Amino acid sequence: MQKNDLIKVHIEDMTNDGEGIGHSDGFTLFVKDAVIGDTVLARVTRPKKTYAYARVEQVLVSSPDRVAPACPKARSCGGCRMQELAYEKQLAFKEDLVRRNLTRLGGFSDIPMEPIIGMEEPFRYRNKAQYPIGTSKKEPGRLTTGFYAGRTHDIIDIRDCMLAPARNADILRAILAFAEEHHLPAYDEAAGTGLLRHVLIREGFTSGEVLICLVINGRKLPKAGQLVEKLLALSPFPDGAEIKSICLNVNEKRTNVILGNEVLPLFGPPFIFDTLGGFSFRISPLSFYQVNPVQTVKLYGTAVEFAGLTGNETVFDLYCGIGTISHFLAPHAKDVYGVEIVPEAILDAKENAARNGLKSTHFFTAAAEDVAERGYFDEHTPLVRPDVIVVDPPRKGCEASLLHTIRALAPDRVVYVSCDSATLARDLKILCAEGEGARYELARVRPCDMFPHTGHVETVVLLTRNT
Ligand code: SAH
Repeated sequence: MQKNDLIKVHIEDMTNDGEGIGHSDGFTLFVKDAVIGDTVLARVTRPKKTYAYARVEQVLVSSPDRVAPACPKARSCGGCRMQELAYEKQLAFKEDLVRRNLTRLGGFSDIPMEPIIGMEEPFRYRNKAQYPIGTSKKEPGRLTTGFYAGRTHDIIDIRDCMLAPARNADILRAILAFAEEHHLPAYDEAAGTGLLRHVLIREGFTSGEVLICLVINGRKLPKAGQLVEKLLALSPFPDGAEIKSICLNVNEKRTNVILGNEVLPLFGPPFIFDTLGGFSFRISPLSFYQVNPVQTVKLYGTAVEFAGLTGNETVFDLYCGIGTISHFLAPHAKDVYGVEIVPEAILDAKENAARNGLKSTHFFTAAAEDVAERGYFDEHTPLVRPDVIVVDPPRKGCEASLLHTIRALAPDRVVYVSCDSATLARDLKILCAEGEGARYELARVRPCDMFPHTGHVETVVLLTRNT
């Protein structure tokens, strides 16, 4: 198989990245923009020994599950990988993905799978968006913003992303007009020069509070007062949302990590508030907060349901971020101990708990694996025996040492909230294997679609103690 070959192929399956999978001449083809059920003419882009990457040149026979994408840039943008697959089929695909990973990587056979929780309106769900700023290739001297194309750092000009609030387009337009007026250069990743790197926009979905943060390669934004004026002229927006915070984030490092550590307020405090499940949360540019508020309530609700609390339990919420899950657990438990590695998030968690009048939550800055291993949260707090442990780690999953400590602590139930079903399967295998400490078994598995049109899927798992 050679580069640029044109191959007719039927699409039988899809990868988590949303590429169609088909076979031809003993080769496995990964075809961008093809969906299950299509027959396409694919152009080979990267041939390898036994497989090849390709992209759709022409759809010959359209899959019955193919739909017109809502966004005209869906194909070139690296964000939405599944917009051309009907939403119910996306859900079926994700549910199946979780099942397959638990089987193949976790070695489970009888999987107590419950139906995936989908969205009724799977667009404009994100409360956070980060837009890179670059220099236009087509029009020299002009700036551009949008999203990176898949696997590159080429910016596809998209102001109105179908996953984000429509008002973001107005905010981006105002920022770019301001920057062009004052000849402020976009950051150049290759050279490490230029000023404007990213625009981060966050909104409180319920509160309607909007935070705008400009990430710059420097500490000062010339004419910042004029930018603030321009932005505030947009607020309140037609939908009633209001700008409550405008800030700068300093990132002078040659890195593709978007945010630096320092936030300099230009207008208002460097945070906004949002309400979730009746609790108020303070959100700053740097802290983790789930991006899909409609689904977050269902996700946390599922975690609380799986925890099976009666009011007498001691619960650990490991990887607690700004304490959101702890808040949802607290009314049903005796005590909740939240542990999180980012100190600012723990400050937010404590502040949130105080504002919400919670007395039974206790928050600690630490690595989850260290706390459990050391046997105490801090010098003043002895480690209590947990009845239930909730973990919600990042994509890389839990450290193996933490999993062994969980077995040693032997809570009755473990609730695992996961954003990557591959690492989830790996970790569950450890918790359910024979060996030292308590041994667990899979009691309930429920995926939740937090990221419609992308290949990602969240899953909540209940493990109950077997021995
Ligand atoms: N439960 C929270 C946060 C989940 S995201 C929520 O739903 O909002 C995962 C969190 O784990 C992030 O806040 C991240 O900072 C934190 N984290 C990453 N590695 C960690 C570790 N080793 N120990 C504790 N927390 C960690």
